[in-house]
Amino acid sequence: MEMFFKFLILWLLVSGAIIFLYARREIIANWHEPVLRRPVLIIESDDWGAGPASQAAVLGEIVRLLAGFSDCDGHPPVMTLGVVLATADGAMIRSSGGYQRQLISAQTHGPLLDAIRTGTDKGVFDAQLHGLEHFWPPALMAASESDASVRSWLDRAPDACTEELPSPLQSRWVDASVLPARTLNNADVRQAVKEEVAAFQAIFEHTPDVVVPPTFVWNAVVEQAWAVAGVDVIVTPGRRYETRDESGKPAGSGKTAHNAQAGENGIVYMVRDVYFEPSLGHTVAQAHAALALKVELGQPALFETHRFNFLGTDEKREQSLEQIKILLQGALIAWPSLAFLSTGKLAKILIDRDPEWVEQGLRRRLHVWIRRLRELPRLRKLAWLTGWIVPAGLVWKLTG
Ligand SMILES: [Zn+2]
Repeated sequence: MEMFFKFLILWLLVSGAIIFLYARREIIANWHEPVLRRPVLIIESDDWGAGPASQAAVLGEIVRLLAGFSDCDGHPPVMTLGVVLATADGAMIRSSGGYQRQLISAQTHGPLLDAIRTGTDKGVFDAQLHGLEHFWPPALMAASESDASVRSWLDRAPDACTEELPSPLQSRWVDASVLPARTLNNADVRQAVKEEVAAFQAIFEHTPDVVVPPTFVWNAVVEQAWAVAGVDVIVTPGRRYETRDESGKPAGSGKTAHNAQAGENGIVYMVRDVYFEPSLGHTVAQAHAALALKVELGQPALFETHRFNFLGTDEKREQSLEQIKILLQGALIAWPSLAFLSTGKLAKILIDRDPEWVEQGLRRRLHVWIRRLRELPRLRKLAWLTGWIVPAGLVWKLTG
């Protein structure tokens, strides 16, 4: 019997060491990621800004909808707006022969900027930088020479939506006019980042705290340039894609990202990996289940909800607004301590490990850490195979 226990302990030590060596990056990163003490829900909505004038009215409707709710501290729900500051100016390109942009301004997009300002003043909007354009202009121009659909899109710009462009071309930080995409020149990237941060500042009168890389394709050079320009936070889908592969899919994602994890030059990542796109059929029940899991994991729920849910037919818009209403109503009932705040504010709280929001006690941190590790399929499999599932489950139960 004694022999058996000695063998068991030895087995757990050896297999534990092997598991740790194999998955140490994720094991350590999950331990370091702050554990939230209360549920957090943020709606992250991209692609607003350049493009059709009809966006202004629906943003006004969203302001009225969100302002009707508040959390237990009296804060309204926040929809962060990933703003695109410019797009191609079709007529100017035709007459000049080269790329020309139309930057959003009080002249071109007065009502839209007013709606964003009103929402920001009421605390329901927070503008984040999505990009000067939702494409890399030289790549778009190159593609227009061989692709008739891009040429016809250019003819309809600046009113055409960038969502209609071939998906690889919607990536701003690679040249996807050929596939696999080509890396951009470093100096061009630095110049473009400088330009887009300055344009954001000119329109919104402050440096963007948060950026959302278009289609989540960007690399270390872009990241460094954003940090240098004063950006604090990058919204990620939990990893960094760096290019588009031969089939046009985002690729090159070696690196995973965790909330409040530091990237290049002290910039910090946030993770947006739950989705609520009513026009794609995502249901409120699924969103509530996603929120429930996030609460267990001590993580915020950053819901991705693009502007395309609110553009197009009246029916689609009404449906999306109604679904957001039901999502919020249900969430406030199911989680009375639910908190609403912006991604930028939340990032600061997590970086500072603010004890009011972030768990300091070892017991609950241990409990949540084990729960997080269970979400990693390979690690879970290894725990079952080696028997580590038993001690880990026991600690999880005892700390719960
Ligand atoms: Zn986008």
